[in-house]
Amino acid sequence: MKKHGLKNTMHFLQAIIFVSLTCSSVAFSQQTRVSMHFTVAMNNPADQAYQVTLQCDGIKKDWIDFKIPVWMPGYYQLLDYADNINTFTARDTNGQTIRWENAAANIWRVYSNNLRALTISYTVKATRNFVATNYLDAEHGFIAPTGLFMHVDGFIKQPVTVTIKPYAKWNKIATGLEPVTGKNYTYAAPDFDVLYDSPLLIGNLEELPSFSVKGVPHYFTGYKLGNFNKEKFMADLKRIVEAAVDIMGDIPFKHYTFIAIGPGNGGIEHLNSTAVSFSGEGLDGPRRNGMLSFLAHEYFHHYNAKRIRPIELGPFDYDRGSRTNMLWVAEGITAYYDELLLKRAGLISGEDLLKAYRSSILAYENKPGRLFQSVTQASYDTWSDGPFGRTGDDINKTISYYDKGPVLGMLLDFKIRHATNNKQSLDDVMRTLYKNIYQQKNRGYTEVEFRNICESVAGVSLADFFEYVYTVKEIDYVKYFAYAGLHIDTKTAALPGAWLGISVREKNDTLGISQVEWDSPAWHAGIRARQSLLTINGEPATAKEIERLQKERKPGEIVQLQVMQQGVTKNIALLLDTKYQKPFTVSRVETPTTLQAAILKDWLKAGTK
Ligand SMILES: [Zn+2]
Repeated sequence: MKKHGLKNTMHFLQAIIFVSLTCSSVAFSQQTRVSMHFTVAMNNPADQAYQVTLQCDGIKKDWIDFKIPVWMPGYYQLLDYADNINTFTARDTNGQTIRWENAAANIWRVYSNNLRALTISYTVKATRNFVATNYLDAEHGFIAPTGLFMHVDGFIKQPVTVTIKPYAKWNKIATGLEPVTGKNYTYAAPDFDVLYDSPLLIGNLEELPSFSVKGVPHYFTGYKLGNFNKEKFMADLKRIVEAAVDIMGDIPFKHYTFIAIGPGNGGIEHLNSTAVSFSGEGLDGPRRNGMLSFLAHEYFHHYNAKRIRPIELGPFDYDRGSRTNMLWVAEGITAYYDELLLKRAGLISGEDLLKAYRSSILAYENKPGRLFQSVTQASYDTWSDGPFGRTGDDINKTISYYDKGPVLGMLLDFKIRHATNNKQSLDDVMRTLYKNIYQQKNRGYTEVEFRNICESVAGVSLADFFEYVYTVKEIDYVKYFAYAGLHIDTKTAALPGAWLGISVREKNDTLGISQVEWDSPAWHAGIRARQSLLTINGEPATAKEIERLQKERKPGEIVQLQVMQQGVTKNIALLLDTKYQKPFTVSRVETPTTLQAAILKDWLKAGTK
């Protein structure tokens, strides 16, 4: 993330002209002006590789280190970008090759020997169709910029231009980058942070009817969008954007693009765009709310994550990745707002909203990891654990900030509304972070600043609340829900059926155990993930039989299982048990106080104050 966002883009070209006119005499003895221009070709898309050249002018040194990042901000996992780069060459202006060697896996050191100008070229393998990776096939291409564009070490703030040469029959590019007037498929970025935050989708794309909010156009362009009511969809999306903009009152860019890369999973937020997996199938039916809250999530991120951001997330460490404790805010509070925005846009009911938050509570409360890992630790450890916590048996030791984060967002919102007689809310916290830290200081917030702003908006100490953030203390839902005139049922009750505690996955001819619930009968019998289940009561094991058994058998009955682990067969007898769970069903308090009624009404109303 760069410091100034895209506000600077419009001044960028004028600035270059100004600098080159005024500095020529003063700085002549120093280094000449540096320029960098990329050309990206896709000569044979079926080969699934991009051909990239970079003309680099004005850096006179013994050697130049060209670097490719190891991750994409917004997706907190190391990616194998460097491994996908092949056929690297460096040449001078006469076409003579220049010696180079790898100084690290992601650094190409070119011995330029004080040459003023040189060109490097390389190919980028593009075979993984995902929002964080490069992809190319006979029909379309997606550029994940951190995995395609090399920067020169020490020149991350260097302005850069890019010319895309689409494959012969393709006619459209979707990107948040600024086009350079008069040049086909050519774009300018004020620095590499902006370039790295601007993915590109190329092909014969479909563009849905755009809309403007506060005079700022919002585009939706994609590949294989599918069949659905597109006018209605864009009208709904506009209402979501308006609800988000209502909170902050400011739109920090000149245009925004939803880039739909085709069917799949995942989305990544960027400065003035988002790349999302998208399919229109079923969108007029049951998939509608899920897709709208997903898009609301990615859109709200341009505020919360890209601009209101943990101080560790920008400037980024492209060589190693940037760790932060605060993804419970950047991701979790965004997940709180993605549902709330749908309510404010008038697209879902209050009951739908409460149902959505209940599912987050259940997801969090049903993971034993809640007893071991705080939400700040889950955030810090996401690089090793993954965004949804660890998998296999280790899942029992971790949680996901996508589950606990939105729950904490709701508790914090209720608490602030209660403490201020419903005069302030979490919206005021977000606005203050945006204005006082992003706009005025042009940087991210520290953990201490985040807490201080929450407490100054609330006007009281939030020590109780922050214990839920920094520790694994059990959450007192009843107290917090009561602030909004809501009752939540936290009485433990027996679930129907019998409890075994195994999730299975059928693969080829074996029934693999994908997960074993902690403290369940299967867990105590020593059954673990990655073992496979051979027989149940002497019959071949199937997923259906597991399901039937848990539904129709009674607690206390014995089940004989045959399990295979690393080639060894084991016979295990275990006792089915009863599973107890808190229902967390939410209802309205029958006779709310004036304050309770006001808070609930305000929280559920369409539009902001
Ligand atoms: Zn997110």
